Amino acid sequence: MRLLLLAPPGAGKGTQGDRLAEHFGARHLSTGDLLRAEVTAGTPLGKAVQGALATGDLVPDDLMIELLLEPLTSAAQGGGYILDGFPRNLAQAHRAFEMARDLGVTVNAVLALDAPEDVLRERLLARGESSGRADDISDVIDHRLQVYAKETRPLLDYYEGRGVLRRIDATPEPDVVFQSILDSLADLPESIVPPDPDAD
Ligand code: ADP
Repeated sequence: MRLLLLAPPGAGKGTQGDRLAEHFGARHLSTGDLLRAEVTAGTPLGKAVQGALATGDLVPDDLMIELLLEPLTSAAQGGGYILDGFPRNLAQAHRAFEMARDLGVTVNAVLALDAPEDVLRERLLARGESSGRADDISDVIDHRLQVYAKETRPLLDYYEGRGVLRRIDATPEPDVVFQSILDSLADLPESIVPPDPDAD
């Protein structure tokens, strides 16, 4: 199974990504987790991205490719992947298509999780208090929501136009959201034409 998770901060990409990976025997690739691990390890890539993580801005596209190429390749050759956090803008969507094509695979579906902004903001503030994640503070949360609206939300139309988008209400509790995701995938055709960025 190869899925993309497209969702604003606080919608539960991480939680659902873990569950989906377990359910389908695929690898959960969370770009946020991968980036934070690089920062913690103090690698050159980690040093290059820590400013963007702190302010909630997007990391440059080329660094994202550098980060993802190896894990994505090995997951594609293994049990598949639940890719959470990439692509996050149109340029990355084109790169995602090229990477999948080069690997000889297609994405089965793109899951768009969404919830009202006040719900998202509340969840992120609560998470910030309990986990201490550095970007879960009020100003940075607002900025991340803005970046999502401007850069990432347009991808919904992009994937909808290509017939692979499944919209999920991420407002209910995690069990309910997970079930709606599984329901939305029940009719998945064996093979889906990949979203081709050159089609229009
Ligand atoms: P959230 O969706 O809650 O903001 P993530 O853990 O997915 O959290 O991402 C955290 C941060 O990592 C983002 O604010 C951004 O700085 C960076 N990031 C993650 N994925 C990408 C991406 N595809 N392109 C650029 N930056 C990214």
